[in-house]
Amino acid sequence: NLTDKLGSALRNLRGVGKLSEENMAEALKEVRQALLSADVHFKVAREFVATVKEQCVGQEVLKSVTPGQQVIKIIHDELVKLLGEGATELEDKKPLRIMMVGLHGSGKTTSSGKLARYMAKKRDYRPALVACDVYRPAAIDQLEMLAKNEGCTFYGDREEKDVVQIGKRGLQAAKEADANLIIFDTAGRLQIDENLIEEIKRLKAEVQPDEILLVADAALGQEAVNVAKHFHEAVGCTGIILTKLDGDARGGAALSMKSISNVPIKFMGTGEKSDEFDLFHPDRMASRILGMGDVVSLVEKAQETIDQDEAERMAEKMRKADFNLEDFLSQMQQVKKMGSLGSLVGMMPGMSGVEIGDEEEKKMARTEAIILSMTVQERRQPRLLRGSRLKRIANGSGVQVRDVNALLKQFTQMQKMMKMMRGGKGRKMMKAMKA
Ligand code: GDP
Ligand code: MG
Repeated sequence: NLTDKLGSALRNLRGVGKLSEENMAEALKEVRQALLSADVHFKVAREFVATVKEQCVGQEVLKSVTPGQQVIKIIHDELVKLLGEGATELEDKKPLRIMMVGLHGSGKTTSSGKLARYMAKKRDYRPALVACDVYRPAAIDQLEMLAKNEGCTFYGDREEKDVVQIGKRGLQAAKEADANLIIFDTAGRLQIDENLIEEIKRLKAEVQPDEILLVADAALGQEAVNVAKHFHEAVGCTGIILTKLDGDARGGAALSMKSISNVPIKFMGTGEKSDEFDLFHPDRMASRILGMGDVVSLVEKAQETIDQDEAERMAEKMRKADFNLEDFLSQMQQVKKMGSLGSLVGMMPGMSGVEIGDEEEKKMARTEAIILSMTVQERRQPRLLRGSRLKRIANGSGVQVRDVNALLKQFTQMQKMMKMMRGGKGRKMMKAMKA
């Protein structure tokens, strides 16, 4: 993997006090080579190296890590950016119509079943699967089987050869079955051809999908990127499902996908089974491509110590119990700097598949949004927060007034606790905690 290749180049940076263009040159050449051999598009690799260089040069080397490790961290962060920052959920709309497109064998039918399962379990949808592959009866059977396994509505017609008719009746059948997620599985070809595109366009015009998901086989590498670009230009895709990431696909396809096609990767398939499917997490993918979690977190730790002063200042405020919402916000942002909760776990070698903390993360993001909607004065004097101010903040952060109240209540309790800690018992406790 990338890291092995980088290792040797970066070792030369040992003992360097400051990263400079000269001492980075060799390492960056290796980075570029490694990216190319991981099947990353050459343009993407070139831009990537330029950005990493910009980031690295002039950086002081942190005391507790080697320059090489620090560079890996920078590379990791840039990889995440390239892959598309956070995970992207599908639109929150009911009913939601999704059309699956892609080449033959890319995993459209399998992914249709997986997506139905995901949306039913995680998003509370009632899915219906509509078989629009009019060329292979076996494809219809395959989808029907998946629908049966997932316990969702199925519509297919083995006699009908016109996808538009199938789409229309599929919508009707879904409506009658009270489904609010309709997934249209379409036919593929071995390569993109005009007939295929025409058919997809006609189906699109008939069913008016909210999402058009391109299913792409990661094992195709660079070719998958070309396919994505082509499909997007022809029918306008809203997202990509990257499949077969469980194989020895090098991940390079994922890297170029977004910057070349400009369509975000939304899901990934990691096996043949129906639960081997998840939202696409750029940070986990970056760790996977680098094949190295521990280095990244090591550097983060080192950077954290820079914030040590800030932490001590905060602890002092807590002791004096004059901790306000502004402090609360700044503390939360510090935690965020260390990466998302999920990614922290994902960084631990061997735990990259572990699902954690999406709920916690959402909660934290919401809390942050609420506080950010307050004025500085309000953050410093939470007692100001009532009536129309509460309403303004709720509107500003897209929550209900009761959510703002809940946050304030939680904050007040925290303050009370701090005050209690100041008393005799508290002091002893703090001492014990410090020891
Ligand atoms: P379609 O022609 O695009 O509908 O492709 P299918 O859904 O029929 O899938 C083609 C083959 O790829 C099947 O054997 C699937 O089991 C397999 N497949 C699909 N997704 C994945 C995946 O994420 N990992 C692996 N290992 N196999 C997959
Ligand atoms: Mg199929």
